[in-house]
Amino acid sequence: MNTDSPSPSGNEPHRRPYSAAPRRPFNPRGRRPFRPHNQHGGPHMDARAPQTTPAAHGDLREPAALMSSGAPREHAPRGPRPPQRRGFRPAGGRGFGGGRGGGHFRRPPSMPRQPVNEPEARELVMLPPLSEDMVRVIPLGGVEEVGRNMIAVETPEGIIISDAGFQFTRETTTPGVDYILPNTKWLADNKDRILALFITHGHLDHIGGIPFMMDRIGNPPLYTQYLTSLMIKKRQEEYPHQPQLDMHVMDVGSSVILTNKAGRTLTVRSFPVTHSIPDSMGISVATKHGNIVISGDLKLEHEDGVPSDKEQRVWGSLGKEKNILFIADSTNAEKEGFSIPESKVYATLEEIINSVKGRLVVGLIASNFERMIRIIQAAEKNGRKVILEGRSVKNNIDIAQLAKLFDPKKGTLIPAEAINDYPSDKIVIMCTGAQGEDAAALMRIATKKHKSITFNERDTVVLSSSVIPGNELGVQKLKDNLLRHGLTIIHYRSSDVHSTGHGNTGELIWMRQQVNPNFFMPAYGFHSMLRNHANAQIASGFPRERVIIPDNGTVIEITNGTELLVRKEKLPSNPMMVDGFSIGDMQEVVIRDRQALAKDGMFVIIATVNLRSGTLKKSPDIISRGFVYLRESQGMLAEARLLVKKSIEDMTQGMNPIDLEMVKTQLTDNVERYLFQKTSKRPMVIPVLIGV
Ligand SMILES: [Zn+2]
Repeated sequence: MNTDSPSPSGNEPHRRPYSAAPRRPFNPRGRRPFRPHNQHGGPHMDARAPQTTPAAHGDLREPAALMSSGAPREHAPRGPRPPQRRGFRPAGGRGFGGGRGGGHFRRPPSMPRQPVNEPEARELVMLPPLSEDMVRVIPLGGVEEVGRNMIAVETPEGIIISDAGFQFTRETTTPGVDYILPNTKWLADNKDRILALFITHGHLDHIGGIPFMMDRIGNPPLYTQYLTSLMIKKRQEEYPHQPQLDMHVMDVGSSVILTNKAGRTLTVRSFPVTHSIPDSMGISVATKHGNIVISGDLKLEHEDGVPSDKEQRVWGSLGKEKNILFIADSTNAEKEGFSIPESKVYATLEEIINSVKGRLVVGLIASNFERMIRIIQAAEKNGRKVILEGRSVKNNIDIAQLAKLFDPKKGTLIPAEAINDYPSDKIVIMCTGAQGEDAAALMRIATKKHKSITFNERDTVVLSSSVIPGNELGVQKLKDNLLRHGLTIIHYRSSDVHSTGHGNTGELIWMRQQVNPNFFMPAYGFHSMLRNHANAQIASGFPRERVIIPDNGTVIEITNGTELLVRKEKLPSNPMMVDGFSIGDMQEVVIRDRQALAKDGMFVIIATVNLRSGTLKKSPDIISRGFVYLRESQGMLAEARLLVKKSIEDMTQGMNPIDLEMVKTQLTDNVERYLFQKTSKRPMVIPVLIGV
């Protein structure tokens, strides 16, 4: 991912703090005891039974003795509904939790699947056994998005996986979901044949999925370089219930010979690449007819477009081998030429440190180890003290010292409380939050929530990162808050204070030319990035018919190193979601309910029906949340009660015995229609009928 992007211990640009520990053993609204999703559910009552606590939101509600009267109907999609789904309910009619409000249960064999939960056809794909001369490459994630990178390489000896990332989510599309993972179903089905997982570097879009998927895919041996191993370990501490990782640290440029159960071996070689985090590598899987080369995230170390000697050596050596397929990073493939080299950034930052008169504050992404180290070293040279703010900056500077990446002079790093012990031109504050994250250090200081540091007009703030798409509003808010202090901001648009971790097309073309593969596949990015990357390679002379632009789950087969087949069927690729404690790919109904609730709220009707006469015992109770302000809607409420009463009594007339399920379906329709007429809103209507 973009260096400017969430990083393992980086200040993450989205809402959630890095402490990615499973979040939800508590109920954020403090109203209901926590109950995990009954995801595998058999019969269970809806954990979200309507509330009877006293009014909290000004909604009027009328407490009533509550009980769920069995199986409310399955919840159909919003908007116009397919008629055949009306009144759908499981055979037997009782006992499936959910209904309008729920629905995350395991479907018994007799129940038809909901169309929203597939892509079904894809999930049934069984790949035929591999021939001796064939290799399969399957990007499982990260080729239709920035994030959740994972590529599988299947050879006759077994399966190699490159990376296990996750992706952050957006509240609007997946409300409440913590992270999105690649779909690992195929890997889980074939876990006996997985030889190893290689992790190219320590960014979250490459390591983030590890705690959530290792168990599922059989906890295969994990190979990576030293710094990445430290970051994985650190993260793993937050998930103590996961199985112990079988992690092996690779030396730079070393190879691993893997042996399968039949005693056959497969060699995977690593090669060092330049990225925004140290110990980044690519891998080359040696198959019978040549190598599958996977770049990992990378750029080139270069001067004015001339790659450094180190790069020439690494790529030159790769090019000496027979390479079947080159898979490369597309994150910056929408930019031409060569990216700004990091050395230019160091020079600019050093110049700023030397020239700024007052305190200097640098906001950055904490996974940018080398940049942080260079800033500390430049501060030392300039006689400045450095204050570290933000957990991930502190963590990563600890890791950097542990990994012996640098050794700051004693007394250089000082605590924030000591800020007033030094003149302001002797202070550098290095902190998280350049992406405008609410909880990060920079925003806390800017909004005067920090206990030791307050900004003033003599301060200079450097935002040493670009803005990750999606974070624009947050960064805008940050800048506004900073400028209220009258201070000076230096950012990447006005000065070379940031460079990306991903190569532009000039670099990518150079690498591909060095590798000289038979086939080329762009990876890591949205489809537009992949397409741009492909076009750039084609424009530089690579044959169009040898380029594969994949989707998640695309199955690529290469026989004899020269014959390409992209299969029509795809492996399952619908994202798996981390939602509190549950992980799975079958929760669309839950997500849909959340979206519906967020949009129009809920409307619960509770009525006690005399099962002999079909009449109501008393006027029905109504509870609502997030729909309309009921105190000001008394007229509508009274009408709704009458409608409920009339609907139930009309329907039960002559019905023998009285089938409350059928009554509920019709009642829901009537009430939905009425509320829509009155308000132009479609709250989730949940009838609870109690037969006595
Ligand atoms: Zn990265």
